[in-house]
Amino acid sequence: MKPFVKYLYFVGALTLFAGIGFVLPDFLDNPVTGAVGIAQIAAYWAVVVVANFLWIYALAACRPIFYVVFPLYCLLGAVVAYFRFAFSATLTPMLLDATFHNDWRTSLELITPGLLCCIAAALAFAALAIRARRRLSLPGWGWHAAAGLLLLAGYVNSHPRIHSGCMQRYPCNVYYNLRLYLESRPAPTKRTDPDAQRPAPTRTDTLTLVLVIGESLRTDHLAIAGYDRPTTPRLARRSNLVVLPYIYSEYTYTNRSLPHLLTRADSTHEERAFSETSFVPSFKRDGFRTTWVANQDAADTYVDFIHECDSAIFVHPEKTVYVYDEWLDTDILPHLDRLLAPGHQAPTRQLLILHTIGSHWYYVNHCPKRLARFQPVTRNREVKRNRPEEIINAYDNTVLATDEFLDEVIRRLERRTALLVYLSDHGEALGENGDWLHASHNEAIKHPAALVWYSDHYARRYPQKVNALRRNATRRYRTDFLYHSLLSGGCVSTPLVEPGLNIFQP
Ligand SMILES: [Zn+2]
Repeated sequence: MKPFVKYLYFVGALTLFAGIGFVLPDFLDNPVTGAVGIAQIAAYWAVVVVANFLWIYALAACRPIFYVVFPLYCLLGAVVAYFRFAFSATLTPMLLDATFHNDWRTSLELITPGLLCCIAAALAFAALAIRARRRLSLPGWGWHAAAGLLLLAGYVNSHPRIHSGCMQRYPCNVYYNLRLYLESRPAPTKRTDPDAQRPAPTRTDTLTLVLVIGESLRTDHLAIAGYDRPTTPRLARRSNLVVLPYIYSEYTYTNRSLPHLLTRADSTHEERAFSETSFVPSFKRDGFRTTWVANQDAADTYVDFIHECDSAIFVHPEKTVYVYDEWLDTDILPHLDRLLAPGHQAPTRQLLILHTIGSHWYYVNHCPKRLARFQPVTRNREVKRNRPEEIINAYDNTVLATDEFLDEVIRRLERRTALLVYLSDHGEALGENGDWLHASHNEAIKHPAALVWYSDHYARRYPQKVNALRRNATRRYRTDFLYHSLLSGGCVSTPLVEPGLNIFQP
C-alpha cells in the first residue's frame, strides 16, 4: 500500500474514534422523531466529523507536533465529552467563567471516577496512535500539513451553518468559547464607591434589614406565586409578605449574577458590576453594622462585597457544590441568633446579607429528609440518569426547605422594626427544551423568585413604603431593582436611588 493511502486510513481511524468519543455526546440527547430525524442528526454529526478529519490530517503530518498535541486533544476531548454526557454541560463562555472563578476545592471536586476513566481511555488511545504514527512515513509532510489546514479553514468557513455547527462542537468549541470568554472579560479595576461624597447623616431609628440571596429558585415553583404544588406552606400563612412575580434576570449563573445584583449595574451600565462597590458602604455610612453570612463558596467575582462588610461568617467553609452530603440553609440560623441577640454591643441598625445554597444541584442534599414531601427523588448525581419527575420532585423539596428557612428568619424578626428582601440569583431549567440546571440561555433560568416581608413595626413606621410596595409588586423589574430598593427600604439617605427601580417608590 502506498504511504499516502496508509496515512489516510490512519487519519480515518483516529477520526472515527474522535467522532464517537468526543463529538457524539453532543448529539445523543437531541430530540428526534422518525428516520428522517435520525438522518438529520447523523448529517449534523458528520459535518463536525469532517472538520475533525481535516484537523487530524494536518496535525498528524508532522510527527513531533502530533506526539505533543494529539494527547492534549484526546485529554480535552474526554473532559468535554464527559461533562456533556454526565452533566449535560456544554462549553460556553459563561461555563468557562464559572469554572475559572470556582475556588480550587470546587474544581477538585469535579474530578470523579467516571471522568478519570474517560481520561485514561483517551490517553491510552493517544499512546496507541503515537505508536502507529511512528511506523508510518509521509513524504512531503509539510505540504500535507499545509493542505490540511487550508482545507480545514476553507471548509469551516464555506457556509454559515457549517461554521456555527463546528464552532459549537469539539474541538473548535474550545478555541471559540475561550476567545469569547476572554473578549467579554472586563479588565480588573479597583472598585469606586459612587456614594463616597455623601456626608454621614445622624440617625436615631432602629432597623434590621435582611437581604437573603437565593440560589436557582424560579418564581413559578412557589405556591405563593401560583404553583399548583404546596411548596410554600409556611410562607403562605405570613400576612406581611409580598411576592414580586415578574422579576427578570439577565444573568443565569451565580458568579455573574451577584456582582450585577449587588451593585448599581443595570442594563445600560453593566460595567458597574466590576467597577463600583455594592450598596454596603452606603449602609455603613448611615450607621448600619453590616455582616455577610455565606453558605456558599466566595467566588472572586463577588468576594469584594464580602470584604466591604464589617464582618463575614462562613457557615460551611468545608463544603462545595460538588460535595454530596446534607448541606442546609437552616445551618445559618444559629449564626443569625447570635447576630440578633440583645446586649450592650447590639447595634441599632443592622444589614445582614445571607447568601444561601437554596436550590442548587444536587437538590436532595439541600432539603432535610423530614421535609422531603415530594417523592420519588433523584438517586444519581448525573442529571440525565434520573427521570424528569424525580428531578422536579427533588427541586420542589428544596423549595420546601427555603420556605422553612425564610419562615424561621422571619420569626426571628417579627418583634423588630425589620425588613426582609429575598431575591434568587437566577432561576433554573427543569427540562425546558431538554435543558436542566442553569448557566445557559434558557428562558426558564431568567425568572428568579423574589419576595419582601416587613414587620408590623416597620409597616407602622413606614406606611408609605409598604403601600408603595404592595402597589408596585406586580410591576416588571429587572434584578437591577435590588440595589435601589434595598437602600430605599433601609431609609438610606442617598441621592443614588432611582425612583423607577425602587419598589418602595410611592
Ligand atoms: Zn446561582
